[in-house]
Amino acid sequence: MSPSLRIGHGYDIHRVVPGRPLVLGGVRFAADFGLEGHSDADCLTHAICDAFLGAAGLPDIGHFFPNTDPAWKDADSQDLLRRVMDEVAARGFAPVNLDATLIAQKPKIAPQLAAIKAALARATGLGVEAIGVKATTNEGIGDIGRGAAIAAYAVVLLAAR
Ligand code: MG
Repeated sequence: MSPSLRIGHGYDIHRVVPGRPLVLGGVRFAADFGLEGHSDADCLTHAICDAFLGAAGLPDIGHFFPNTDPAWKDADSQDLLRRVMDEVAARGFAPVNLDATLIAQKPKIAPQLAAIKAALARATGLGVEAIGVKATTNEGIGDIGRGAAIAAYAVVLLAAR
């Protein structure tokens, strides 16, 4: 008997570096730093991709979009998420909801939360009411707390169609 609901979890962290655009949840932030990575390094969207892939029993984001492949250099991670949703749909699953937490000492995320939700709604096909995104600092603790990295966690639910 195959269960009709599938939960998935994702985590990602990227190093903060100067001279790159900062993109989180598909939204460009005005900041004097960005995240290191092969793609646009959008750790929030990457965590969400991994959560959807995990829920569908598929390999992780690095399997589908390897950082050794020039095709994904500076890739828009919203495009990667759309491709992930296609993989999930091809296996007979539809998204039910997603919930994510972004951990960043700076910049302030709250003013952009609505824009992030709207971007994620466009990429996943979910309604904004089915998308949770929270942001927290790391209270100055550790590498994330001193602004050397930004991390994200995500959980999603899929339903068999
Ligand atoms: Mg990543």
